Amino acid sequence: MKAAILVEHAEIEVEGSPRRYPHLPLKKNPLLITNTETPLPGEGQVLVEVEACGVCYTDIDIIEGRVQCKLPLIPGHQVVGRVVEVGTSVSSVVRGDRVGVAWIGKTCGVCNYCRRGLENLCVDFKATGCHLDGGYAEYMVAYIDYVYRVPRGVDAVKLAPLMCAGAVGYRALKLTEMTDGLRLGLFGFGASAHIVIQVARRLYPSSEIYVFTRSPEHQDLARRLGADWVGNPGENPPRLIDRAIDFTPVGETIARSLELLAPGGKLVVNVIRKQTPVDLLYEKHLWLEREVKTVANVTRSDVKELLDIAGRVPIDVKIEEYRLDDANEAVRNLKAARVKGSAVLRIA
Ligand SMILES: [Zn+2]
Ligand SMILES: [Zn+2]
Repeated sequence: MKAAILVEHAEIEVEGSPRRYPHLPLKKNPLLITNTETPLPGEGQVLVEVEACGVCYTDIDIIEGRVQCKLPLIPGHQVVGRVVEVGTSVSSVVRGDRVGVAWIGKTCGVCNYCRRGLENLCVDFKATGCHLDGGYAEYMVAYIDYVYRVPRGVDAVKLAPLMCAGAVGYRALKLTEMTDGLRLGLFGFGASAHIVIQVARRLYPSSEIYVFTRSPEHQDLARRLGADWVGNPGENPPRLIDRAIDFTPVGETIARSLELLAPGGKLVVNVIRKQTPVDLLYEKHLWLEREVKTVANVTRSDVKELLDIAGRVPIDVKIEEYRLDDANEAVRNLKAARVKGSAVLRIA
């Protein structure tokens, strides 16, 4: 089968981007596109013919060595495809079934976190496209308990971003403990937020939703997708917000969103790494029962619930399509912030 393989970590060469990791080789094409053996499904696994796989910013973290994974590795954790072979002890799917695979590839099921419904924090969390080979390939194997039915009649390329950008964003929305009528603020409006706003619009019809983004293009998109107010992060919205989700890579957004939170408000930060420091003043940002929480990974119920919503409500996902052969171009463009919407590899 054809696959895009990460053999060694490298800094992805992007025009105008300063060199950050001099100890790593600088590569325009960090992934090796080559033929490799098609894997065989073992016990409790299925072989999936990949139709589409989303390209996530985490894949860049993996390539550049900020997230520790196995090597060599086939990245990719936003997969939609068809089951073409089933391993032993698999009865819940048959050949031809269409499934999705997400970042959560396998958990131990017995640790403290797994037992408390926090399998996203499992001490032995195995991530797809990191500890297990992922979907930048024509085929991949997945554990049957970690695949999902996907809505019928929707193009795989449009579904793939739901598996991570969508699912993690949906988890962030759940963690805000939002209820209908509360005012929600979204900071940053990229791959994840443009899905979250559509879900929030549906689940909380009487809530006002404010979107904070500098990009005029993202501001337009936010208005089209139902934002009640759109502005720059420095602008003041009509009223204080009760719930906020921060999707931005900059530390300053945490302070800014807390400033705009009403007493008792809650902020969820949906970012792995902040590129600039987070400076908070207790009285200005946290006093009066304001809360901050971060979101890490996803649970299977996050993915299932989001796919269930997507089966009932059409979610308009903005896509930029690439071929598997152009996987390097996709990661380069994502790193350079040149992708409009979500980058997705169309494979089969
Ligand atoms: Zn991801
Ligand atoms: Zn566990």
